[in-house]
Amino acid sequence: MTVRVRYAPSPTGSPHVGNIRTALFNWIFARKMGGVFIARLEDTDRNPDRYKPEVIPELEESMVSLGIVPDEWWKGGGDYGPYVQSERLALYQEAAEDLIASGNAYRCYCTPERLTKMREEQQALGLPPGYDRRCRYLSEADRARYESEELPSTVRLAVPLEGRTTYQDVVYGQITVENRMIDDQVLLKSNGWPTYHLAVVVDDHLMGITHVIRGEDWQPSTPKQIYLYNAFGWEQPVWVHVPLILGKDRKKLGKRHGATQFYEFIRSGYLPETMFNFLCLLGWSAGEENREIFSVAEIIERFSLEGISRNPAIFDYDKLRWMNGEYIRVLSPEQLTDRCMPYLIEAGLISATPAQEERAYAEAAIALCADRLKILSEIADLTGFFFVAPEVPEEKGQRKWLTGERPLQIIATAKSLVAALTDDPSVEDAEQIVNRTAETLNLERPPVIHTLRVCLTGRTVGPGLFELMSVLGKERMLSRLDRAVGWVLKE
Ligand code: GLU
Repeated sequence: MTVRVRYAPSPTGSPHVGNIRTALFNWIFARKMGGVFIARLEDTDRNPDRYKPEVIPELEESMVSLGIVPDEWWKGGGDYGPYVQSERLALYQEAAEDLIASGNAYRCYCTPERLTKMREEQQALGLPPGYDRRCRYLSEADRARYESEELPSTVRLAVPLEGRTTYQDVVYGQITVENRMIDDQVLLKSNGWPTYHLAVVVDDHLMGITHVIRGEDWQPSTPKQIYLYNAFGWEQPVWVHVPLILGKDRKKLGKRHGATQFYEFIRSGYLPETMFNFLCLLGWSAGEENREIFSVAEIIERFSLEGISRNPAIFDYDKLRWMNGEYIRVLSPEQLTDRCMPYLIEAGLISATPAQEERAYAEAAIALCADRLKILSEIADLTGFFFVAPEVPEEKGQRKWLTGERPLQIIATAKSLVAALTDDPSVEDAEQIVNRTAETLNLERPPVIHTLRVCLTGRTVGPGLFELMSVLGKERMLSRLDRAVGWVLKE
């Protein structure tokens, strides 16, 4: 048996990290088992508050950027298509007819007004909401009359009224629900469109899905879907529900915790490879203590459905930040520059189509700041002084290092040494300038280093001084030293 798994996003919003994690688990399981990873677009809910077709490109790009391109999906096709539910309406309508014919579903002619009134009455009495099954027990005569009057109707599932439904969940073990607790769910709306339950079961069956791996929030749907499998006489898939993702306060991860959408993270400069690694470790453990960084191949090798924990996963933003720094540090200078460019361009620090020289300068500047970089968007702040000469120094640095006669002497001495250079200095040349300035003025090196750092960068912290002098080059250093003279405070 070939494992066939699916990720079934609805275009209701930009993908949430929880959905992306579901996609990852499905993809990893497929790769592990030599199976097939399918993506299906579940777009039958056309309520204008929820249906957002504009996010479909983000659903697509998120998978591409993570390297989990489906083997079969709406973009690439496959033998079980179409992979978009709105293009499969006839299949659901046919399935609903089959269920009516076998007595497992019935037409319901209740008007929306009646259903609303019923809900209000149930609410007022403190009863659980649910359909009162009036149309389940219509006489043949009434049914024939409604049909001849062409009353609009929905199709509802005739849930067994007694007994229990039990199923095995790979993560949560045996689950049992009392059938009388389950509502006679609408399967097909009066406009001929299916609801989620009918569409998902028909598609999972027709697409040969062997394992349904999805978020725990879909668990309450499972009994209804099991009735459907039984009613059709189809074999159920293996059920795998993945625990919810919570914030540190153990409440469902939401906006008040921070970013929750995959693209919020990507736009602020988290790498897809970090997100892959981090999200896989939410609810699944590789079983190695004190180790967080795993390559994709290592994750596939270690992955098992049994390794998914039933405890909710806690989303640790600090850990994600740390992990991103780790992934940034394995990029080559060239790769890192490619990824940082959009942020430098957006900040107006370099031109949108930088010439080779500008790009080389950016690469050198980025390389010097890489070890302090945790999120790509921070690159503009870390390297900004390389591109734009500071207007004013940091106050703290000015007070400490740019007060009195000494800084003026340091600036003058260093400047004459820089001016004497025939070319941009190497790192060694830069160190010589600092050493000779200290010797000439009979100073230790630290005051010279701190003073020159504030003069050249406007800041008290940053990359190594000799390295940054070498990157800034002769001309920039000369003009910055000139400007810094005006920053020196009288004692
Ligand atoms: N379309 C559902 C969603 O948006 C899929 C649920 C399932 O995987 O069964 O998550």
